[in-house]
Amino acid sequence: MAALAALRLAAPAHAGTPAIAFAPGTDEEVVQRAGVRFSTTDLAGPSCHEAIGAAPEPGEASIAFEFRLADGRRIASGRYAGRVSFSLTDIVITMPQSISWPHMTAADRERAEALRGAIYHHEVGHVRVAEAVRDALNAHDTLTAETPAALQAAADAFGRDGFARFKREERNYDALVAHGRLQHVAPGALAGPDTVIRCS
Ligand SMILES: [Zn+2]
Repeated sequence: MAALAALRLAAPAHAGTPAIAFAPGTDEEVVQRAGVRFSTTDLAGPSCHEAIGAAPEPGEASIAFEFRLADGRRIASGRYAGRVSFSLTDIVITMPQSISWPHMTAADRERAEALRGAIYHHEVGHVRVAEAVRDALNAHDTLTAETPAALQAAADAFGRDGFARFKREERNYDALVAHGRLQHVAPGALAGPDTVIRCS
């Protein structure tokens, strides 16, 4: 409950902008349905502390958030109607396929694997946020305008606002969980292990 309140606080709802709702599913299901591709790197360093480095986030989710005017048509009143349809494409999660430093013990390897799992979950969370924003925006009413050009202009404005919301919600997510380091405070399916490693 506290985490949910924090997310709302971090994302003050504008008038007429209800909070986003997350679709159910495991991380693997999200990856499948969103068609996520993976780009992997090897994180290595001279020591446990240095292997992780100073990057704010050891992974990255790159998501193309697109919109188009769909269903444009002339309606009985003589006005023009259509909907703006948002979609996600080209989703690529970049994350380490290995995290290593010299002389790792079995316990070190376990910790490194746990961190990889936490990074994976945080990045899939970015996809969950994008899905939730897309679904909220796609639930909007049909737009109408006097002319096809005015309809297109209205659709473009709505699309730009939607894109801005997508960027804002993704930023809020990172702010709330400190890029994964406080992943446990996230609400619902977003919650998970923190992307931190305790070096012995
Ligand atoms: Zn992030």
